[in-house]
Amino acid sequence: AAKKEGRGRASAFDASMLELLEQRELLRRSLRMALVQQEFFVEYQPIAEGGSIVGFEALLRWHHPLLGNIPPVTFIPMAEADGMMPDIGAWVLEQACREAMKWPENYIVAVNVSAAEFLTSGLTDRISQTLDLVGLPPDRLELEITESVLLERTVNNIDTLNTLNVLGIRISLDDFGTEYSSLSYLKTFPFDTIKIDKYFITDLETDPKSQTIVRCVVDLAHGLDMQVTAEGVETPAQAEWLRHVGCDRLQGYLVSRPLPVEAIGEFISRAETSVRHALS
Ligand code: C2E
Ligand code: MG
Ligand code: MG
Ligand code: MG
Repeated sequence: AAKKEGRGRASAFDASMLELLEQRELLRRSLRMALVQQEFFVEYQPIAEGGSIVGFEALLRWHHPLLGNIPPVTFIPMAEADGMMPDIGAWVLEQACREAMKWPENYIVAVNVSAAEFLTSGLTDRISQTLDLVGLPPDRLELEITESVLLERTVNNIDTLNTLNVLGIRISLDDFGTEYSSLSYLKTFPFDTIKIDKYFITDLETDPKSQTIVRCVVDLAHGLDMQVTAEGVETPAQAEWLRHVGCDRLQGYLVSRPLPVEAIGEFISRAETSVRHALS
């Protein structure tokens, strides 16, 4: 059918391009209103260590009034490009810290920090102000940054990470192995945790290369006195393999999908019951 249309095909293509652009433009415009319109919310994904829960990662969600839920991979880059991430990130941080105050005292909350946010001046001051305001001890906050944040290895970057470190805030390197991986980051920056990207976890059972990489990253992290989290763990076999090579923490659908805030209380009490069971 497409063949006989000839000229029509080109304009159909143009039309769909236009539609796509219009949709992006619509998204971008609504995104600017989303914070004041209270369309953002946060879900929390449990992080497991040795059969118990050590905390949750805060994951930002956007419910568009007409289009429904828009995935973070779509709207976060837009928000970054339009300079909105510092404001949105500050909102997520406060939400997450307030939520964490309701959890057991040893639970951490992990918050993702984008490059645009990380590079704004006064970040460390704003973070410690938020912690003071909410009353959350700094060692219960873990900031997740990706390697792209560190692309510019400026004095400022190093200062910011060192200041956060001195404040007692934990720092993890997210999506390890997928971006501009350079081992020099591991030498320069004081990370507490390395998160191995799910790219290496998904085919762990079948791909000897992923197995070798994961085993080496675990050893590397431990040699540098850092912890390791595996992301995207979906099967018991992956979890077993990760335990076997000494990976400290697991995160993924096997433990739990990201949970709406209303479901956390029940999740925590169930988790504690099952741990008590295991210990008795
Ligand atoms: P991330 O920080 O690496 O988060 C992990 C992503 O993997 C989340 O996707 C999570 O829902 C998903 N995931 C977790 N377990 C599994 C699993 O077992 N299988 C599969 N297939 N996926 C799993 P999500 O929520 O769509 O977030 C995508 C990315 O968006 C995040 O990757 C993070 O880079 C960014 N992001 C999310 N929230 C925030 C935020 O508040 N601030 C910033 N700056 N970035 C955020
Ligand atoms: Mg993360
Ligand atoms: Mg990640
Ligand atoms: Mg990721």
